[in-house]
Amino acid sequence: EDQGFISRLPARAAASPDAIYSTFDGEPITFAALHSKSDNVAVALRRLGVEKGDRVALMLRNSPDSLAVLFAIAKCGAVWVPVNVHLRGDGLKYILEHCDPRVVFADRDLFPNISECGADISAFRLIAEAGDTESLDRLANGDHVFAEPLPAADDLFALNYTSGTTGRPKGVRVTHRMLRYAAEGAMLCSDARDGDVFFVWEPLYHIGGAQLIPIPLLRDVKLSMVQRFSASRFWDQVRDCGATQIHYLGGVLQILLKQPESARDRDHKVRAAWGGGCPRDIWRAFEERFGTPLRECYGMTESSSITTFNAAGVLGSVGTPVPWLSVEILDEQGAPVAAGVHGEIVVHPRQAGAVFAGYFRNEEATAKALRPDGFHTGDLGMIDADGNLFFLGRLTDSVRVKGENVSAFEVEHVAGSHPMVEDCALIGVKAEVGEQEIKLFIKPKEGVAIDYPAFSDWLAHRLAPFQNPRYLTVVEEFERTPSQRIMKHRLPASVEGSWD
Ligand code: ATP
Ligand code: MG
Repeated sequence: EDQGFISRLPARAAASPDAIYSTFDGEPITFAALHSKSDNVAVALRRLGVEKGDRVALMLRNSPDSLAVLFAIAKCGAVWVPVNVHLRGDGLKYILEHCDPRVVFADRDLFPNISECGADISAFRLIAEAGDTESLDRLANGDHVFAEPLPAADDLFALNYTSGTTGRPKGVRVTHRMLRYAAEGAMLCSDARDGDVFFVWEPLYHIGGAQLIPIPLLRDVKLSMVQRFSASRFWDQVRDCGATQIHYLGGVLQILLKQPESARDRDHKVRAAWGGGCPRDIWRAFEERFGTPLRECYGMTESSSITTFNAAGVLGSVGTPVPWLSVEILDEQGAPVAAGVHGEIVVHPRQAGAVFAGYFRNEEATAKALRPDGFHTGDLGMIDADGNLFFLGRLTDSVRVKGENVSAFEVEHVAGSHPMVEDCALIGVKAEVGEQEIKLFIKPKEGVAIDYPAFSDWLAHRLAPFQNPRYLTVVEEFERTPSQRIMKHRLPASVEGSWD
């Protein structure tokens, strides 16, 4: 069992070559094809000088070939660095330089983004997806056999960069074992059974996609990948592939709920939708309309993605931990708090290797997160008397006002439910007297003008006085991470020009 999950591929390809690992836009990818294509690419990677532990960055949209490269990297014991295809400029330069790759694979139309971002491209080999002398489709097709021993479970599988919500993205060192835990977590929270079909609309460079990769090697389950998410075609695609499992992010549920109602809304085989970030106010509406229970999860790149999950349907909760992790709430002094009290969510591995072993080339962040008393998530949470965890936002995202801890998350939730508000974000700013004061940035819905006094009055009826923003500022657009999270650390703390 100390072999990585990848060692199961040759076995599956030999035992049932025609069995389907995944479909891609309806076309089957068999275990045999995946094995042979990835063997070809693995041999090519060695020829390109890629050795065990070397980073190989992938800036590829989902395709059968991108899957083959990913498996090839794993076979070589090289380290996969998934790069969001929407990155450009400084954000792209940072990751490309930080991960220090030997080879970068990119879709051809993304080459200009790479050459223009300012990273030193002479430092690595750049290979296109198709149509080149050294294109991916040529590398993947041949009859090379990769005969070397496959990596062990504790070898590195990937450097997964965090979303960069609270600062520069950090490269999380993910082992083969950790990805296996991520897949086990996905199967547990979705209550996976033999014969299940997992619909994959997410790019593989997101953990939502990546955590599914080992699943068909572990159980009699297959994936059904599509090139990209489409709100209008989503349920048709789900029906066509006979999907029984879907993964969500909160925003996706909102988009799907906004689609016109149809008589076929409940005509599908999906047994569970599981994921993270479902807004409390649409939770039941979604379940009702599509006849699919939601299983809200909590997790992060550092702790194998699914850390807790809610199978009991407790509204607003992210549930209880997977068996290989435990979770507790600590106060600022590091002491456990009583049920119902807010504090930092701290995660403990109950089995070796279930949380990350440190950030790549970032001692400072590693020491801050991985402490003797557990992995400090930097998230604010609460565990109720029944043991259900509630996620309350980022720890750094609470503001000290008049001796009270104000959770940005809660205030944003209220302000965001105002009919004229599209999105909002709260930060603490230095108070003239005392600790901090609240500044709220508002992006209004298109074409509406926010009346500050009226809006402030509306908030005052819904928030405790200490939660009420002191300053209000309208913004046209928020600066966001590639996963669409607002980069709060880039919001100006100056109060000049704000409504006061
Ligand atoms: P960075 O660490 O670079 O600031 P990030 O923490 O946003 O970025 P990820 O690892 O992608 O990067 O995201 C994990 C975070 O997502 C968690 O720490 C938590 O704050 C948030 N999160 C996790 N589960 C949920 C959920 N169910 N609902 C809302 N937010 C969640
Ligand atoms: Mg984080």
